[in-house]
Amino acid sequence: MKAARITAPLRTEVVDVADPVPGPGEAIIQVEVAGICGTDIHILQGEYQATYPLIPGHEFAGTVAAVGEGVTRFHVGDRVTADPNIACGRCPTCQRNEPNQCLTPQAVGVTRPGAFARYVSMPEGNVFSIGALPYNQAAFIEPLACVVWGLLRVPIVPGDSALIFGAGPMGCLLAQAIRHAGAAKVVVTDVAEWRLRRVAELGATAVVVADAQQEARLRSLASLGYDVVVDATGIPQVVEGIFRYARPRGRVWLFGVCPREATASFSPYQVFRKDLTIYGSYALCRTFPQSIALLESGAVQVESLISHQLPLSRFAEGLDLAQRAPDRMKVQLLPG
Ligand SMILES: [Zn+2]
Ligand SMILES: [Zn+2]
Repeated sequence: MKAARITAPLRTEVVDVADPVPGPGEAIIQVEVAGICGTDIHILQGEYQATYPLIPGHEFAGTVAAVGEGVTRFHVGDRVTADPNIACGRCPTCQRNEPNQCLTPQAVGVTRPGAFARYVSMPEGNVFSIGALPYNQAAFIEPLACVVWGLLRVPIVPGDSALIFGAGPMGCLLAQAIRHAGAAKVVVTDVAEWRLRRVAELGATAVVVADAQQEARLRSLASLGYDVVVDATGIPQVVEGIFRYARPRGRVWLFGVCPREATASFSPYQVFRKDLTIYGSYALCRTFPQSIALLESGAVQVESLISHQLPLSRFAEGLDLAQRAPDRMKVQLLPG
């Protein structure tokens, strides 16, 4: 099969490799659409623990092409996606039912061959039916499941006001999911006006350009501050600035992935004085079903978040677009 690989930091290739053979309890999925995500870029840049050469890609959808011994719930031809995270099930954190914090995790596209290939092998327990969802939308189930996991940690109550920094694909998913979780006001801020127009179409109640008037505008929209403030940029300087927008008793949610070695400063006194709560949310944790439900119901719209679709042979160009294209949102690869 054709597969796209990262062979060393900043080095890629598209090559022929042997088709995967399903082991007991595994399904082989023929990949139709796979999205490029920030994690793939981190692996490209050598900022992520990965063993090269690696086939990346962990947000995808396709059809079951073969099943191994003992697989009972899926059959050849089924339309599916899969949770890329494979917890060991045996370590102390798995035993505490915290599989996203597994001490010896495996992840498709990080420690195992991923979805930037014609076929990918998955344990049956990680495979989910996508019903009639189009493949290009189903490739958003994984990133949306990360948002859902955060929403199981960060309480959103009816009538809340939320402020989201960043209107990229994740900011757009966050805005929609937070709104559906009960927030009455969802304000999004970003430097790119065209991205703000998109998130406004998707249900943000107000958008603010990150220019010299940003702070005044954000404050005018919530005089006491926001119930929930979310970083979806992963930029440490942005993170440092978000605390001041939380209302007393507010929640600060660090969703964006900052560089591993980065630090950010904040005022411990203000966290104390304002009764603030700071939340992290890492990846996803058994939240594929909820994510699928949000997409199937139309509560979360993703079609307008796809900016580029390329054949697998243009892998290097896809990575480049995902990092630098001025009009980039989600870049998808089509191995078919
Ligand atoms: Zn991802
Ligand atoms: Zn474990």
